[in-house]
Amino acid sequence: MNSSTKKTMSPIPSKLMQLRKKRICRFCKDGARYIDYKDIKILSSYASERGRIPPRRITGNCAFHQRRLTQAIKRARTMGLLSFVAS
Ligand SMILES: [Zn+2]
Repeated sequence: MNSSTKKTMSPIPSKLMQLRKKRICRFCKDGARYIDYKDIKILSSYASERGRIPPRRITGNCAFHQRRLTQAIKRARTMGLLSFVAS
């Protein structure tokens, strides 16, 4: 006799999917193709208090703009516009 383990498949309730907010990328909304590394106002709003770049699931950016944002923040850091670590 062998007792077969039942696979418990838990389908995601459709209600949960509906509740999920549709996040819109801020840069897509503005129609920005390029994120300026000199624009510290925008960059500092994305850099956390510890000076880290938050992941995409937190910022809500699209892959394209998240990449550009990361690049811009890193450029700003090397230019001395943003800090690497919290002061
Ligand atoms: Zn975008």
